[in-house]
Amino acid sequence: MNHILAIDIGGTKLAAALVDASGSVLRSATRPTPRQQVMAALGGLIEEVTGGGPEPVAAGIGCAGPLDLAAGTVSPVNMPSWRGFPLRDEVRELTGLPTVLAGDAQCMALGEHWVGAGQHSRALLGIVVSTGIGGGLVIDGTPVLGPTGNAGHVGHMSVDPYGERCECGGRGCVERYASGPNLARWALENGWTPGLASSNRRRPDGPSPDGGAPSPDGVTPAGPAADARTLARDAAAGDPVAVAAFERGARALAGMIASMAAAVEVTTAVIGGGVSQAGPVLFGPLEAALDDIGGLGFVRAVEVRPTTLGVRAGLAGAARLAWDYSRSAS
Ligand SMILES: [Zn+2]
Repeated sequence: MNHILAIDIGGTKLAAALVDASGSVLRSATRPTPRQQVMAALGGLIEEVTGGGPEPVAAGIGCAGPLDLAAGTVSPVNMPSWRGFPLRDEVRELTGLPTVLAGDAQCMALGEHWVGAGQHSRALLGIVVSTGIGGGLVIDGTPVLGPTGNAGHVGHMSVDPYGERCECGGRGCVERYASGPNLARWALENGWTPGLASSNRRRPDGPSPDGGAPSPDGVTPAGPAADARTLARDAAAGDPVAVAAFERGARALAGMIASMAAAVEVTTAVIGGGVSQAGPVLFGPLEAALDDIGGLGFVRAVEVRPTTLGVRAGLAGAARLAWDYSRSAS
């Protein structure tokens, strides 16, 4: 049976897999993304996955953006050593395979549409909520990539034109409210003590409930990390600031999803990425906010689902992209 070499490149992790025409993974491997010499690490990973196995018929790559599809180059925000890097041609030369490239969140959407939570969806919006927020659209089975390959950057849709300034230079971007680091940042600014609600840190002779605040230099010396994972646990334990942070982030996501539904009649939104593992503390307020924000019937009808593929969605989508590419080329 023929296989595709699927590659998923992010700021923290490189992943590769051999994927068959039904979406099943024959073998896969990951390694951390190095600061420098990323291509050498990727070459080793590809060798690990393909060595001694069946020869793949094509390669599909999902990479963190921004990218330029026409040129086949990438400039991932979290990978400073790659600016205008000719990734598609480098992989093509390395493997000798027909090679196709798309954004990592576009691949996530395509993977969820193929073998995940968005199967049979007419108009799917895939959203990755993590350190940043990315997205991808699949309409009638076809990925919407855009003229330069950057369609679906839903994290930088503004949900408040008077809102806070985003790192991208824009204002009121969804990412500023709902990404993992921004959820934690807002909670800390509003008095959250990481882990206080979810762990039994209050001993009889221990600090009072209002103790354990960050030291003057802003660093909490011990205890749980001040990140979205701890925030989710605290929200589940009823910490009011943690709950409010997720409600605020969910409302921003809901505004974006309702806008996307109005623009292109999205029927299904699948949410993945680390923050989606927060579960009900995210999805509960998200449903409530969509109910409040959405007006028109087809906007209100959008269905929101958590990912079923998790971190494998990007690899599945990269494989699907390459299958479609190799079929259209032959
Ligand atoms: Zn932005």
